Amino acid sequence: MFTRISHFDGTRDALRPMQRVDNVREAAKDFRRDMLAKPQVLFYKTFELVRVPYPSKFAYLNAFGLPTPFVHLCNRLFVIQFSSSEGVKTLLVSPSDWEHQRATPFFAHLDAKAGPLVGVMEALVLKKTSTVLKCLASIGLRPEDVDYITYDHLHTQNVSRLLGANGQTPIFPNAKLLVMREEWESAQALIPWQNQWYCPQGTQGIAPERIELLDDSVWLGDGAVALVRTKGHTEGNHSIVAHTGQGLLVTSENGVSLDAYEPKHSSISGLADFAKRTGAEVIINGNTQEYVVDQYISMVQEKSIAGPSPVDGRFPNVVPSSEAQPYWLFPGTAPTARSGSFEFGRFVVSA
Ligand SMILES: [Zn+2]
Repeated sequence: MFTRISHFDGTRDALRPMQRVDNVREAAKDFRRDMLAKPQVLFYKTFELVRVPYPSKFAYLNAFGLPTPFVHLCNRLFVIQFSSSEGVKTLLVSPSDWEHQRATPFFAHLDAKAGPLVGVMEALVLKKTSTVLKCLASIGLRPEDVDYITYDHLHTQNVSRLLGANGQTPIFPNAKLLVMREEWESAQALIPWQNQWYCPQGTQGIAPERIELLDDSVWLGDGAVALVRTKGHTEGNHSIVAHTGQGLLVTSENGVSLDAYEPKHSSISGLADFAKRTGAEVIINGNTQEYVVDQYISMVQEKSIAGPSPVDGRFPNVVPSSEAQPYWLFPGTAPTARSGSFEFGRFVVSA
C-alpha cells in the first residue's frame, strides 16, 4: 500500500539554506515528472465545511499591509479514491470534526474574550456550511467504507472522536489515520507555544492499530496519491498530492492562499511589496514559527511539485486545506486568485 518516495532524500542536508531551497526545487521537478507518469485518482471531490476568522498577522507573516485583524479561512474536506493491489481505497483528507474542536486553547481564548457576545460574534464570523458526515452522505459514502483519513497536520483536530478512544464508538470503524511519526509524537508532548493550536485529548486513547505512523514520504496504492513530508507549519507536516484531471493538486496549510505561494502576483496590500523588498518567493502561514526555514523550503517544494495552475498560470496548482476567502467584514483580504472547488472521476461505491 505504501511505496517510499526517495526523491527528497538528503535535499535538506546542505549547510546553506538557499542551497537547500535549490536542492528541493530540483528534486520536486523530478518527483513531479515521475508522478505525472503514474495513474490518476479514480475520484476526487472537495467539500466546504466551515469558514473561521484567523489572525491576518499569522496568515501572511510579516507581509500583510492593512490593519484588518482577521482573514476568513475556509476549511475543506477532500474525498479521494485510488486503486491499489488490495482494491479501491477511500481516503478522507482533512475531515475536520469542527463541532468538537472548540477546546483548542486558541479558540477557547477567543471565546472567552468574546464573553457574553460569543453568540453574536459567532453569527457574524463563523460560517457553518456542512459537516463531514453530511458531506459523505451527499455522495453515498458510508462511514464504514472509509479506509484512511489523513490531515496535513494535526492542529485543532479531534481525531479521537473519529477513530474511537477510551471505549467510545468510532465514527469511522474501519479507517486508519495516516500521519507522519514526527507529527504524532510531537502532538503527545507539546511545548506551550505549540499546544495553543492542538485540541486537548484530540489524539489521546486511540488504539495503536488504528494509526499508521509514516517515517517517509510515500505513494499510496498505484501512486495516484502521495503524502510528501513538508515540515514547517508543524514539525511533522505533510502535503497531500493527488494526480487528477487537472494535474497534480497539492494540499497543505503551509500557505493560506494562492497569493501566499506567489506573492509577487498578489494584489493583497503588502504582499507584492514584501516579496519585492525581501526577495521572498512565498509568504508563510506563521501562527507557529518554530520551523520557518523549513516552511519556506516546503512551500517552494509544494509549488514546484504542483506546477502552474491551468486556470491561472501565474499561480501554482495548490489547494490549501485552509484557504482564505473574501468576506465583507474583513476588508482588503480577498485573495487575487482562489483554487475553487473540484470534482474529478466517478465515486466508486463499495461492494
Ligand atoms: Zn495549522
